Amino acid sequence: MSRRAYEKIVTRDPNEKEFLQAVHEVFESVAPVMERNPEYRKAAILERIAEPERIITFRVPWMDDKGDIHVNRGFRVQMNSAIGPYKGGLRFHPSVTLSILKFLAFEQVFKNALTTLPMGGGKGGSDFDPKGKSDGEVMRFCQSFMLELQRHIDHNTDVPAGDIGVGSREIGYLFGIYKRIRNEFSGVLTGKSINWGGSLIRPEATGYGAVYFAAEMLASRNQTLEGKRCLISGSGNVAQYTAEKLMELGAAVLTFSDSSGYIYDEAGMTRDKLKHVMMLKNVKRARISEYIEKYPEAVYTPIDPTLDHNPMWNHKAECAFPSATQNEINLKDAENLLNNGVYVVSEGANMPTTPEGVYLFIDKKILYGPGKAANAGGVAVSGLEMSQNSMRIKWSRDEVNSKLKQIMKRIHRSCVEAAEEYGTRGNYVNGANIAAFVKVADAMLDQGLV
Ligand code: NDP
Repeated sequence: MSRRAYEKIVTRDPNEKEFLQAVHEVFESVAPVMERNPEYRKAAILERIAEPERIITFRVPWMDDKGDIHVNRGFRVQMNSAIGPYKGGLRFHPSVTLSILKFLAFEQVFKNALTTLPMGGGKGGSDFDPKGKSDGEVMRFCQSFMLELQRHIDHNTDVPAGDIGVGSREIGYLFGIYKRIRNEFSGVLTGKSINWGGSLIRPEATGYGAVYFAAEMLASRNQTLEGKRCLISGSGNVAQYTAEKLMELGAAVLTFSDSSGYIYDEAGMTRDKLKHVMMLKNVKRARISEYIEKYPEAVYTPIDPTLDHNPMWNHKAECAFPSATQNEINLKDAENLLNNGVYVVSEGANMPTTPEGVYLFIDKKILYGPGKAANAGGVAVSGLEMSQNSMRIKWSRDEVNSKLKQIMKRIHRSCVEAAEEYGTRGNYVNGANIAAFVKVADAMLDQGLV
């Protein structure tokens, strides 16, 4: 690895733990690429690729229903525009920091390159917590947030989407106020509702894509998802549609979670059970613990912060789909997964496995699909939404779904090929990092020192 380039970043931002973690992984993977291509070193590609082109930080004041005033912090990290306008979601969650958004923006650059669509990378959000807020409060927050963000985004410059805490309700409020301020109806956000510029399959895309990626990995060993037992974390957008596609392909979905705990349903999910989860999480905005009120045969386990592992990852299964948040699988969890028979991990979430967990998965040669490849289906369909907006057309469900499937197949193939080219067969982490890095680095070389 290029120690010097990495150490410089550590010295500059020593406290940005998540960002450093993401950079370290990529720099480690691309070390042989740097060796083979001295022109990258000469052009200081590593130093430039890890420094955001622009970071915007702003105050977001808003008033709650009682008339009390609150102040949150808003961010947009415009990381890299070598291959297209900045593209990446907005996260509203109290844990949001600049380090988290820089890691997400950095990952996004490579993920977007893997899709082969013309999209640069960015990410943004706020430490605002939509949980427990009324619709009116969420709307006023979104309007205040966009009042500032609109100065920095545009359908040709930077196109945000949703992420944790930003779903169709928030995208609607953000779009509404953008349209009013700018007096234009444009494709400045993706994840829009289907009635006003959204794409079919966008809500499903990340989850479906993570399942397609798992299916591709299994196909490389002449296997399918049929009959496989699957553990899913989270119960939001990605988790729900991962579950839907897995069931469609004949797999058994055993778990869902949220930040309070998880449910284990040994009998497996059914369409009705999933519908109930969607109602609980999307309409009632309730906790996953309420699942057992309707399905008492399932078991709910609250999070125990004194444990050194998450018991959710300690059940017999073949596949795991972490779909909640970063670093949710530590070394102990990774060991538990392997000991319970899991040999397919397809990451719906971004960077859900700690580096020690990743090393273990690679060492044990399981089918491990890192987030930047496995969850790229979401941004891929966002890219398709942008195309439909520009062309003012609407593709059918089948058309979008088949394009998504093809994109996930291509991403899988480019990971496999890049890993093989650099002598690390079956290592999807190296494959994804190398394939994406070369694409972005070459574009940066072509465009000179900017
Ligand atoms: P949602 O807000 O819809 O759902 C997030 C889920 O994860 C909720 O169940 C939430 O529980 C849980 N969660 C969030 N933070 C934590 C935490 N700190 N500890 C435990 N559980 C947590 O978000 P998405 O489904 O959209 O996103 C999930 C993951 O997928 C994220 O890592 C995101 O970056 C990634 N991703 C999303 C894409 C998309 O298209 N939406 C695209 C690519 C990646 P609770 O309700 O308690 O907060």
